[in-house]
Amino acid sequence: MTATIIDGKAVAAEIDRRVGEAVAQLEGLLGRKPGLAVVLIGEDPASEVYVRNKVRRATRAGMNSTEIRKPATISQDEAITIVRQLNDNPSVDGILVQMPLPDHIDAGAVIDAIDPDKDVDGLTAVSAGRLLAGEEGLRPCTPAGCVLLAEQAMGDLTGKSVLVIGRSILVGKPAALLFLEKNCTVTIAHSRTVNLPELCRSADIVVAAVGRPEMIPGDWIKPGACVLDVGINRVAAPEKGEGQTRLVGDVAFEAASRNAGWITPVPGGIGPMTIAMLLRNTMTAAARRADIDLAGTRQGAG
Ligand code: NDP
Repeated sequence: MTATIIDGKAVAAEIDRRVGEAVAQLEGLLGRKPGLAVVLIGEDPASEVYVRNKVRRATRAGMNSTEIRKPATISQDEAITIVRQLNDNPSVDGILVQMPLPDHIDAGAVIDAIDPDKDVDGLTAVSAGRLLAGEEGLRPCTPAGCVLLAEQAMGDLTGKSVLVIGRSILVGKPAALLFLEKNCTVTIAHSRTVNLPELCRSADIVVAAVGRPEMIPGDWIKPGACVLDVGINRVAAPEKGEGQTRLVGDVAFEAASRNAGWITPVPGGIGPMTIAMLLRNTMTAAARRADIDLAGTRQGAG
């Protein structure tokens, strides 16, 4: 293997540590801990694990982290009321509504009820608009983690060609805009893209956010490229025993590692960065709401 394997866990732990220091400083200035509220609706087992991890990491960073759990049967209006109460709660700096929501609830309506200044997931239409306009704002966590890892690996990203595979509002589109903000030349691919192998082979940075196990073979990767594998796919692992499973990304890791300069593993790459960016956003939101210019809390333009 020639690629450097990017240790997202280690980078995330360092960010958590620095956020923890800023949080301690903020607590002194605010007279309270920065607060993160995580709303979990329904009993999706994967969501429960994600929420537990977010709450635990926020608490460890010194934040006041609350979990609001509601049954899958609550109505959309009730969900929006919960969000509005959190908007009005002065001790809450960041609000996160864990996705997916039950089918009868319009996720967009609930997300857009979040006060954009508390939108630590960066998913409201206002946050998306601020990103598009190059205005200061809270950026979506997973794409922000991708950019940070690419910068750590490659330094200044100016002029790099980036291929983002996937165009979701959660990952693909904001990732493309964030790399554009870094002066990269960005291409977005999706299910109707006809020349994916060629596009991939010419990219200095590949962001794979599709959700299809190992769909990107190693020989699509340009020698020396930086591969950021966002995909999380559970596949059968008969080698571990009957009925066992394991997680893989969207990229064929072993083969891609022979060509890439840097590559993120799954698990342990982008995943841990997502929560680190959430904590950083919460710290940023708390500082901005109190009009405190804490070093390191500014993100995006400005
Ligand atoms: P979506 O399902 O919303 O989007 C998938 C995208 O992939 C779509 O834009 C789709 O295109 C595109 N796509 C599908 N098939 C192909 C194909 N054959 N060739 C090219 N593009 C294709 O997924 P998300 O963006 O929400 O998530 C993507 C992956 O990232 C998932 O595995 C998810 O679990 C993971 N994820 C990981 C996170 C982390 O913290 N590590 C956080 C968030 C997500 P089209 O628009 O044309 O349908």
